Amino acid sequence: MCRIPQPLFVNIGIPLMSYVVLARKLRPSRFDDLIGQETAAQTLRNAVLSDRVAHAFLFTGSRGVGKTSAARILTRAVNCLNPDNGDPCNRCENCTEINQNASADVIEIDAASNRGIENIRELRENVNYVPAKCRYKIYIIDEAHMLTLESFNALLKTLEEPPPYVKFIFATTDPHKIPPTIISRCQRYDFLRISIKKMADFLETVVKNENLELSRKAIEMICRNSVGGMRDALTAIDQILSFTGTSATDQKVAQILGILDSESRFAFIEALLEKKDGEAISYFQKLQEHGHDVNDVLSDLLQTIKTIALVRTLGMNQALFQDIPADDLETFSTLSKIVSADELQQIFHILLELEEQMKRSAHTKICFEMAILQIASIEPLIGLPEIISEIQNIRKSKSAGNSNTENTDSVIEGPAELSGPEKDNSGANQQHSFLKMSGAHKPLTDATVIKNILKSDKTELATAEPAKLNESSPEPKMTEKQHSVTNQDNYSHVDEEKPYV
Ligand SMILES: [Zn+2]
Repeated sequence: MCRIPQPLFVNIGIPLMSYVVLARKLRPSRFDDLIGQETAAQTLRNAVLSDRVAHAFLFTGSRGVGKTSAARILTRAVNCLNPDNGDPCNRCENCTEINQNASADVIEIDAASNRGIENIRELRENVNYVPAKCRYKIYIIDEAHMLTLESFNALLKTLEEPPPYVKFIFATTDPHKIPPTIISRCQRYDFLRISIKKMADFLETVVKNENLELSRKAIEMICRNSVGGMRDALTAIDQILSFTGTSATDQKVAQILGILDSESRFAFIEALLEKKDGEAISYFQKLQEHGHDVNDVLSDLLQTIKTIALVRTLGMNQALFQDIPADDLETFSTLSKIVSADELQQIFHILLELEEQMKRSAHTKICFEMAILQIASIEPLIGLPEIISEIQNIRKSKSAGNSNTENTDSVIEGPAELSGPEKDNSGANQQHSFLKMSGAHKPLTDATVIKNILKSDKTELATAEPAKLNESSPEPKMTEKQHSVTNQDNYSHVDEEKPYV
């Protein structure tokens, strides 16, 4: 379970005459080096300074945000012979030994491969031996959520009352998989995802120090792709430079990362939003030729449509879109003016459906192209308020027509007569059935359906009028007062519908 001492390692664990990846070379050595984790770092440092270090910690957060690094810094800080304001000196005997993974008092356990009860029993026995050299014996249990329930239960007693010289640090990406009984015995620290700006600022200095050439745009692309994980970002830089040497263009970076560079992405999305299906498909095929994976293109497209919808609704507020470069935000704003908010929602749902289809289908490219055609055929939607006001306009013009032909000011034909004399609130019923027809349970419906309904409503009105003029009225005509009451009934009826809308 203990790490095997490796005498070839010197200083901060760098093997002689061998290339060290950036993520290892730049591993944080002091609390201040933990980029984007200022709160956790400050709290831990204060605990060390005031000598009030808990006996068990739980470090949670997504991968590469600094959990294990923080655990190692804390381990050195509590055991350092010459601590510097709560930070480890990284030079004394204890610090050096821990850095070289040569200390017998620091035991790192990878719970993914030592998850069984027998491993924990061994740990419980070892806990009873006092530290060989250091002040504290520290167990760092990485990927702690991988331990079995029996292992966790076997740990409970030790965790509750460990010997005074023992400390536990659990690190996990999935805290919800840790039993509450364990969590309640630990001091919990949530490590946040590092913001793109903080990460890019740090990587810019790294790139400069390493004499590499990467634009700020390329660095931000790397940061976005790493979703707040510094280790992933450093690994990506290593990968890019081992492919291209000491410099790389933005396009090359995008290609290696398997993401779309802004130029191709915006050209593709513009063609899509303008419903130019041929152009959009040709851009899509070009992306394929350049080796972009269909799933990557789709996930980028979903992200882009979401951002356009947000920019459309919230406006170009840089404070809300800190992760987006200013010139990209400008383009998002221009794109958002091409389509309506409803169309963006429709496109988003088509893409979500496409994602489901692509999971099941072996023909992902075909599915994608069909979805492009589907997006190009989207019709703008008409909202329910517009539909209702359109109906009211038709009825008003019809009423005006009637009053003109009959030359009476006090008697106005109500909508009640349209559907026959059986029910005195048939006007309301008619509106009710119309709402049903037009899909009133949904706030919006397809434009063509509405147009057809409106057309049929007009025809109905047109055919009803001459019939009424010829017939003698089957029941007394409504006075203006009665009519207004019926209208109120209609509105209250519509209001009743609203909760279901
Ligand atoms: Zn030290």
